[in-house]
Amino acid sequence: MPSDTAQSRLAEIQARIARAATTAGRKPTDVALIAISKTHDAEAIRPLIDAGQRVFGENRVQEAAAKWPALREAHPDIRVHLVGQLQSNKAREAVELFDALHSVDRPSLVAALAKAMDESGRRPDCFIQVNIGDEPQKGGVAVADLPALLAESRAAGLPVVGLMAVPPVGVDAAPYFALLAKLARDSALDGLSIGMSDDFETAVTIGATHVRVGTALFGARA
Ligand SMILES: *Cc1c(COP(=O)(O)O)cnc(C)c1O
Repeated sequence: MPSDTAQSRLAEIQARIARAATTAGRKPTDVALIAISKTHDAEAIRPLIDAGQRVFGENRVQEAAAKWPALREAHPDIRVHLVGQLQSNKAREAVELFDALHSVDRPSLVAALAKAMDESGRRPDCFIQVNIGDEPQKGGVAVADLPALLAESRAAGLPVVGLMAVPPVGVDAAPYFALLAKLARDSALDGLSIGMSDDFETAVTIGATHVRVGTALFGARA
């Protein structure tokens, strides 16, 4: 992808985020754009870095480990977030590699992350992922189990900053976003990781602090 295209796509997404934020009486700077670069190689990512994007997201530890150390070398201010499911046996690697983890969703993972953080001294921001549509195939803690998992995470010393969800596809995401926003308020959490290419403006009007946009920035994944 030529860099002018990456630049114009980035500018367009930023403008749409800013417009949605302003419409909702929010500050555009209160919304972080995470460029979801999963499946895209360094050649596709570099134009976005050159255009000024600094926050990226990946869904697999192995893929991120292969791509990001080299890309970050020239730009130490880059931040990489994990947005995909995390196996407990990869907790240590994830804690060392990522600046934020959006998929904390079960007690065994909380324990593995707490141990990895204590051992490594690194403490990436944690989002608790909620299975907001109660879908069996999806990750995330059940809504009813959120308070207990949150208490457990806090007791284990995880720096929990917010909630994350991926609502069901093919239906209006707004009610799911609103439910997650309410759960976050009830939990005294400021962070809200919601909104993807098709619905990030809706997410921003409902309070997203982090939107996760892949396709609209990079084009379709193979
Ligand atoms: C892939 C992915 C995204 C980005 O989705 P797009 O529709 O390409 O914007 C966001 N969040 C998660 C958890 C993902 O896995």
